Amino acid sequence: MTTTIHARAALTPEGWREDVRITCAARVVGSIEVGAAPQPGDERCVVAVPGTPNLHSHAFQRAMAGRAQAAGATADSFWTWRVAMYDLALRMTPDDVEAVAARAYAEMLEAGYTRVGEFHYLHHDRDGRAYADIAELAARVCAASAQTGIGMTLLPVFYAHSDFGGAPPAPEQRRFVCDRDLFAALLEACRGLVRALEGGRLGVAPHSLRAVSADELAHLVGLAGEGPIHIHVAEQVREVEACLAATGARPVAWLLDNAPVDARWCLVHATHMDAQETERLARSGAVAGLCPVTEADLGDGVFPARAYRAAGGRFGIGTDSHVRITLPGELRQLEYAQRLTERARNVLAPPGGSTGRAVLDAAGAGGAAALDVRNGLAPGAPADVVALGGEATGRLAEDGFLDAWIFARGVAVDRVWARGRLVVRDGRHVARDVIDRRFAAAMRALAG
Ligand code: ZN
Repeated sequence: MTTTIHARAALTPEGWREDVRITCAARVVGSIEVGAAPQPGDERCVVAVPGTPNLHSHAFQRAMAGRAQAAGATADSFWTWRVAMYDLALRMTPDDVEAVAARAYAEMLEAGYTRVGEFHYLHHDRDGRAYADIAELAARVCAASAQTGIGMTLLPVFYAHSDFGGAPPAPEQRRFVCDRDLFAALLEACRGLVRALEGGRLGVAPHSLRAVSADELAHLVGLAGEGPIHIHVAEQVREVEACLAATGARPVAWLLDNAPVDARWCLVHATHMDAQETERLARSGAVAGLCPVTEADLGDGVFPARAYRAAGGRFGIGTDSHVRITLPGELRQLEYAQRLTERARNVLAPPGGSTGRAVLDAAGAGGAAALDVRNGLAPGAPADVVALGGEATGRLAEDGFLDAWIFARGVAVDRVWARGRLVVRDGRHVARDVIDRRFAAAMRALAG
């Protein structure tokens, strides 16, 4: 099936162009015609931009969005939030996981994300025993991806310990834990799942330096081959202190010294880095997986974005805990945290350039690299197109339209095509009613 989209303005790898016809055939962009009149049968839109990859998701956590904003009896932190998250994780059935993931993925598409990196660590049954199909829950997130149309880069997680030094896992981590043999079986099953998904990709995710020993990390890097390797690192000060105590090194420095960190890698968060770590990570070619809304929600800290970008570092955006799934909101939070820290404005913009354009371009390129796909409105790339609509105060074909979307009002996602298939119309996922009914039933069951 061929779909042709006519945009009055489109953001191409060469910059803004006017009157652009984008032909999508066999799920990829076939041709881009510039200065072309719309033809009968064309889908017509105001402004077209490439879909953005969402490089870090734990889909099941969408079920607790908005439910952890009341203060506890003691000081709240990432660690008290984690107790509530474990409680939720221990109760979910496979049907719950699929229903919640479908809702999360529909919201991602509505936000302008067209691919998700699912950092998938909820593996086993509620008692901690492996399901008869070791990849039962991975199959459920893949089913949610197929139902919603979002592209899937599946990142099965290896999780073996509760802390540095190979501490045994805690009972409440029982649904996450694998040994090497079990993980090998899981990875093989995930390979089959991803093969069956249109445009599916597979990577490997050592959970964190807490959960994986040095030997296990080396083993996992071997399993990854040329595919993506994602790891949580340096999200919390307590984690930095524990790593220093256990290894004598800070987490990002330890990783750079002890693992072959290169362009295959995505270091999720990397919030707490000193100047040397920041520069070394930038030079490594790895992508920093930033999740600004979750990092703000959890009180993690602020990523040193100015120094990292100045050293040539790449980043992408993830929605992580899904407390709120928003693309402009993530990009705005990223920039605003820098402004608040530095007491400056337009921190991530190039001299004379637009902040919105700079962060959107960077998130597209970095996210695609981290999820092992191409990005951009160009022949051969996946036909992931986001149509933005709204009032334009200036010309359409200019960065001000993106700045209005990200920082102000009046611009919103209208339609989204994921690999050429229309999945969002008038800002709403085309299967939202069915998805919402299943989600509501799952949430009622989880509350009961
Ligand atoms: Zn995460």
